[in-house]
Amino acid sequence: MVDKQARRIAEFIEPLRVEPGSHVDLAKDFDPRYKARVKKRDGAELLRTGVGLLAEYQAKLAAQDSYGVLFCLQAIDAGGKDGTIRHVMSGVNPQGVHVSSFKVPSAEELDHDYLWRYAQRLPARGDIAIFNRSHYEEVLVVRVHPENLDRQRLPEEAKGRDVWTHRYRAINDWERYLCENGFKVVKIFLNLSEEEQRTRFLKRIDLPEKNWKFSAADVRERERWDDYQRAFSEMLSATSTPWAPWYVVPADRKWFARICAAAVLVHTLMEIDPRYPTVGKKARKELRAVRRQLEDEAPAGAARDPYAAEHRPGRGKERP
Ligand code: ATP
Ligand code: MG
Repeated sequence: MVDKQARRIAEFIEPLRVEPGSHVDLAKDFDPRYKARVKKRDGAELLRTGVGLLAEYQAKLAAQDSYGVLFCLQAIDAGGKDGTIRHVMSGVNPQGVHVSSFKVPSAEELDHDYLWRYAQRLPARGDIAIFNRSHYEEVLVVRVHPENLDRQRLPEEAKGRDVWTHRYRAINDWERYLCENGFKVVKIFLNLSEEEQRTRFLKRIDLPEKNWKFSAADVRERERWDDYQRAFSEMLSATSTPWAPWYVVPADRKWFARICAAAVLVHTLMEIDPRYPTVGKKARKELRAVRRQLEDEAPAGAARDPYAAEHRPGRGKERP
């Protein structure tokens, strides 16, 4: 049953995966409206299943306390990062999840190497860390607006023409290092079409309760659409690796994007296959001795073991 479910999920996300080493042309290779023949009316149930599985696996991940998961979400403005996080993580125990949103770097952050601020937010073992924007901004917005690179005050020899190739390599190496230490890196790119972005911006203007989300700067960024698409394509080509592949999630339909994001995360957790720790023979013997002691403490008329009396017929009966 679990195997069958795992296989179905793996098949479902396969078309979204960027084959390591492949050359991506985003506009040609990935359709923002793809929906794998899933009907919207089945969407809510599918998402519920995904959210439930996520909760189950996260509880085991935390109990095992050995692996950690870093979930990176990248998208263009209005791509749906916030909504995806809100829906996909709705069932998990908040104690085991930490969300970090990365904005324009502070003076202190700019005073360090470019991966420094992301390293501060990595997950602990047993945890899931979500990056709402991530270290990939360092090859996206920084690339599209080179003045960001100037602000990083790199020494001359670190700034040459190869700066992006070096960054891709450093990022791949960093993620490989994390993976080899038991921290799985899951990367989702929400792929929005230019027309759907226009519609969502207009909605932010039309609906008063969405006005706060609208920023004129987003519209200025939209003018650089083609530059961003090029930077996305190059990033996906250069940094989808066997240890941390990219998944390009079609984002024009929010309900479908959320199902995909949940499926990718569940798939990763299934691969980790975390288990509740079991106790050895000696510890079990100790548990039995303590149980006897606690059972003997039952007051007159109370069940010797109220839990067992309710859940395991024939055990933990009332004390005579
Ligand atoms: P929202 O959905 O609420 O708009 P957001 O992630 O777009 O969320 P904003 O505060 O609107 O948050 O924007 C953050 C800005 O910070 C983005 O324009 C992003 O490109 C920019 N940014 C992130 N990382 C860097 C970086 N390393 N250097 C320069 N700018 C960055
Ligand atoms: Mg924004």
